[in-house]
Amino acid sequence: MIEEIIDSFEYIIILKEKNIKTWEDIFPSFYRIAKNNIKEIKEHGLLDDIKKLLTYAKALEKFDETNRNKIFDNLKQYIVSLKEKFLVDEIIVPPEKKLSLFTDIKYVKNVGPKRAALLNKMGIECLNDFFYFPPRDYEDRRKVTKIFNAKDGEKVVIIGKIVNYEEVKINKDLTILNYSVEDDTGIIRITFFNQIYIKNYLSKGTIAAFYGKIEYTYGAKQMKSPDFQVLNTQDDFQKEILPVYPLTAGLTQNIIRNISREVVNQTFFLEEFLPNDFIEEFNLLTLKKRLKGLHFPLSFYHKNRALYSLKYEEAILFELAIIYVKLKLKENKKTEGKQIKGELSNKFIDMLNFELTDAQKRCYEEIKNDLTSYYPMNRLLQGDVGSGKTVVSELAVIDVCEAGYQSAIMVPTSVLAKQQFNRISKDFEPLGLKTELLIGETKENDKIAIKERLKNGEIDVIIGTHAIIQEDVEFKKLGFVVIDEQQRFGVNQRLQLIKKGNQPDILVMTATPIPRTLAMTFYGDMDVSVLDEMPKGRKPIKTFLVPDSKMNSVYRFVKQELDQNNQIFFIYPLVEESETLDLKNATEMYEKLAHVFNDYKVGLLHGKLPSSEKNEIMDKFMKKEYNILVATSVVEVGIDVPDATVMVIEHPDRFGLSQLHQLRGRVGRGKKQSYCFLIIDKKINRETRQKLSAFSKTNDGFKVAEIDLQWRGPGKFFGVEQHGIPEFKFLDLIEDFSIISQSRKKVEQFLVNPDDLKNLERLKSELKIRYGDSIELIHVL
Ligand code: ADP
Ligand code: MG
Repeated sequence: MIEEIIDSFEYIIILKEKNIKTWEDIFPSFYRIAKNNIKEIKEHGLLDDIKKLLTYAKALEKFDETNRNKIFDNLKQYIVSLKEKFLVDEIIVPPEKKLSLFTDIKYVKNVGPKRAALLNKMGIECLNDFFYFPPRDYEDRRKVTKIFNAKDGEKVVIIGKIVNYEEVKINKDLTILNYSVEDDTGIIRITFFNQIYIKNYLSKGTIAAFYGKIEYTYGAKQMKSPDFQVLNTQDDFQKEILPVYPLTAGLTQNIIRNISREVVNQTFFLEEFLPNDFIEEFNLLTLKKRLKGLHFPLSFYHKNRALYSLKYEEAILFELAIIYVKLKLKENKKTEGKQIKGELSNKFIDMLNFELTDAQKRCYEEIKNDLTSYYPMNRLLQGDVGSGKTVVSELAVIDVCEAGYQSAIMVPTSVLAKQQFNRISKDFEPLGLKTELLIGETKENDKIAIKERLKNGEIDVIIGTHAIIQEDVEFKKLGFVVIDEQQRFGVNQRLQLIKKGNQPDILVMTATPIPRTLAMTFYGDMDVSVLDEMPKGRKPIKTFLVPDSKMNSVYRFVKQELDQNNQIFFIYPLVEESETLDLKNATEMYEKLAHVFNDYKVGLLHGKLPSSEKNEIMDKFMKKEYNILVATSVVEVGIDVPDATVMVIEHPDRFGLSQLHQLRGRVGRGKKQSYCFLIIDKKINRETRQKLSAFSKTNDGFKVAEIDLQWRGPGKFFGVEQHGIPEFKFLDLIEDFSIISQSRKKVEQFLVNPDDLKNLERLKSELKIRYGDSIELIHVL
């Protein structure tokens, strides 16, 4: 095998580099390799190249140290060039018909509507989707093993002739086909179970290749249900590396491979879309080679180069999209920077009954810089639950209003909107700022009045939900938009808001801490400020794992807290009883807990309730009309109930750690000591227990995020819908972090101005294919 031969040359080089071989050893070793493989070298047209290699090796014997090192470098490069030449290929024979990238997969040869439906299930809708459908593994079928040499447990290809065949009916459910297959070194038994149709392909005298695992049974060699290929002659076998794809019921590996061959033939027509700069800088395979190498690599070298190149391709395109958006958002300068006087904000700071933390001061300064600048702010304020993001945003809003602009504060739910409105309007009243609330439930007449006053500038600050970005809301002079709890808002909505004003500054706040290393990737189109310090005097929430057999002591503890006028959350993963999952559910537990704590008022909150009812229940809990709230995870974001001191979570293993952290953050908002109990049952496995235990030992959201990321992997950590970013097929956000940051650097050099993409039609259309939906490039490109 050519790859093995070239690898053996390279291995000698490595041994020299480790000083295991000397300069003088190289030529004789090379010569031996060449001589032992001369037949194959000639067959593959490698002879001239190998001769040249030997000349280099010979030269090493003659020269002094400096020249030797130079020659040695040339030699190494030469081997790399041999690999690129002989171990990497692309489709060079055009297929009969040219298909477009968006051809429905059902029209590809060997597919049809039935199989297309199955492929659709795996996310393959069109030709281009299949191009980027990664195999989960590869099988090396480049080497045929003689039966005599085949070892127990090895996966090998053997080629032989069927010399005997028997069909054995063991019972009515089991029929076995036994074939004896012989080559010139030995005999092997090949067995199929309940696959009678195989008789149509294999019979006495058939020559075939079999691929499978060798087993020794009673001293005889055997293969069970191997893959096979009927051959005309022994030499007919196609030696190659085959892809192993993920499957779905109804599709076999052979079917999907046959489809893949058709698909890969279509790469013949592809044109590279990555600018040459990138190909050269990162030494990437060109598009046709990358995709051929993904599905049918000529060698493992090819496969590795392809995967490496596809990772870069993915990172480069992603960063191009992100930086493009960033540049686009900055493109239209503001007509003026905001004049910040700071009198009102100083007055506000004096009124606070606490000192700002250093982190709050720093973030506030960063925001002020953006406000005064000519470029519109596009900033993310990251901070754990309770780190005091609201105060920071209030300060900025006050400055903006004082400078003569209006501000809008947008939150994901009307419950939160009301809560924020109550708090902020109280804060702003003494400063003479006019604040209003606008949500879906606002009465029609009031809505009309509020819109009118927004339009003529009588309202300084509007707080609300999506309602604020509805088409018919107009502002007199919108200068600043604060978006709280970002994960519920996408880039689209951000862009919609921008259209409302003359380049308003945008501040997005999120309580989902993201490990710092990843923030750059995920919020790449924004500048980031981090509140990494908690206000002083906060009592950390105490978290305990409690076995469900000790539930009574939790109830006793809850009772004591209730008696001290505190409030309690009980959280369940399900709303109602489920047929498939044996888990406690909120509805049943609500009844049980109402009974257990019959001196107290218990409320039930879950996602199946109409939203008006949800709001009412939340309101009642905040007003203490309920002492206990039994809920599902709908209670997750932003709720601020100062007297809530206990959070009981049953089946915590059903939640992600970041989600648990959010839930836990619903208590400990006031001055009182708060507690979180994670109730675990015996069935929980050791790993999950360890993870929950690690969670219970930290209150730091960033640490929780990191633990979560390690356990669940980035794919699940960042849900697509949650963050408005696509999942990667090839990149691993942890392992490939350096690929991402290198790509980002290069992209930042390459794309300084949105117009730099102007003449790159192929690249632009590729960006649209990938990110058109999620990053809203379509209308800007
Ligand atoms: P979050 O970041 O979760 O939105 P909030 O802004 O709601 O946090 O702040 C949580 C609580 O902490 C509020 O009651 C707020 O008044 C208080 N707070 C904010 N900053 C400080 C500080 N520097 N010192 C003490 N308490 C603070
Ligand atoms: Mg908040």
